[in-house]
Amino acid sequence: EMVGYVDKAMERYPLQMKIVVRFGIYQIEDRTIDVTVMYDRAALAVKRIKGKYGEAYAYFDDSMRNELLLEKEITNSMQQALADGEFLVYLQPKCNLKTEEYVGAEALIRWMNPERGLLPPGQFIPIFEKTGFITEVDLYVWEQVCRMLARWKQENRTLIPISVNVSRADLYHSDFMDRILELMDKYDIEPSLLHMEITETVYTENQNQILDMVNQMEKLGFKVEMDDFGSGYSSLCMLKNTPFDVLKMDRQFLDECLDSKQGKTIISHVISMSNDLGLSIIAEGVENRGTADFLYDNGCSVSQGFYFSKPVSIPEFEHMLDEQQTEQQR
Ligand code: C2E
Ligand code: MG
Ligand code: MG
Repeated sequence: EMVGYVDKAMERYPLQMKIVVRFGIYQIEDRTIDVTVMYDRAALAVKRIKGKYGEAYAYFDDSMRNELLLEKEITNSMQQALADGEFLVYLQPKCNLKTEEYVGAEALIRWMNPERGLLPPGQFIPIFEKTGFITEVDLYVWEQVCRMLARWKQENRTLIPISVNVSRADLYHSDFMDRILELMDKYDIEPSLLHMEITETVYTENQNQILDMVNQMEKLGFKVEMDDFGSGYSSLCMLKNTPFDVLKMDRQFLDECLDSKQGKTIISHVISMSNDLGLSIIAEGVENRGTADFLYDNGCSVSQGFYFSKPVSIPEFEHMLDEQQTEQQR
């Protein structure tokens, strides 16, 4: 009704462009709630239909309420959770497709929440990014990784590089490099053992500042990986200007491409392109033998995915490394 009314009203003011009006509705039940809170709820509701053609209004509903509640709960408890050691580092191996050897691993965070169980990063990382807390958490993950590598060294284990995820917020912290270098120093770790995964879209933003940062990392001997390649809107030209070492193909991009002949051609050429550019290429999200074979046949030598292993706890990962070593000795 209201929508029709607004449409009519708009007709009275003819413009050269079409203006679409959308409504977010919060039904007032409790009058003690602050008006700004009511407004926020209506604004959240309208966000749900942003970009959806033909949907003019949305109500604030229970699912949004729960989402807000969860978000609040997370923001309230995250600091204590970090102090209490509720964040765990899991590792997922990167495998050589020919030998099936583990040539590296990616550190992936998990939250062991006493009430909610093991939470995947998708549920809390976006909130941490919003609040800026991500920088503290990432630093924690890097420290855990460095500590583990130092222990491996002490235990005379074969050292393989470990990748950590670097959030866009981290890169805008002026002391980002100092903090990492401090860790390398404290645990006496070679920078080449720490790979930095930076998601594709970050490179497209504030190009100069990011490029400076990546350049600096490279100069110090860290390896930089472009994560989620193919997922966003990066231009191929960007590959020319960015000094990174590893192209990490996005899982969904790979999945969607493998569905068709054209898609397969694209994957095969992305692999040859990166080989020709002297970049290493890693495929992410390899779930079966067929995909692994296809990638290998097309010149990709390293992959990560459930086909080889899911992300596992550090002790489990060490056990896997041990098993592999005894197998090799046989
Ligand atoms: P990502 O960096 O692209 O990590 C790869 C994700 O793909 C992981 O999800 C991994 O479990 C999943 N994956 C790997 N192989 C397969 C497969 O074969 N099939 C399927 N279905 N999935 C597969 P996860 O652990 O849930 O992490 C999600 C995202 O959260 C990561 O995406 C990364 O962007 C972010 N993240 C994780 N840990 C951290 C962290 O410590 N710091 C920051 N800033 N972000 C993190
Ligand atoms: Mg990653
Ligand atoms: Mg990825």
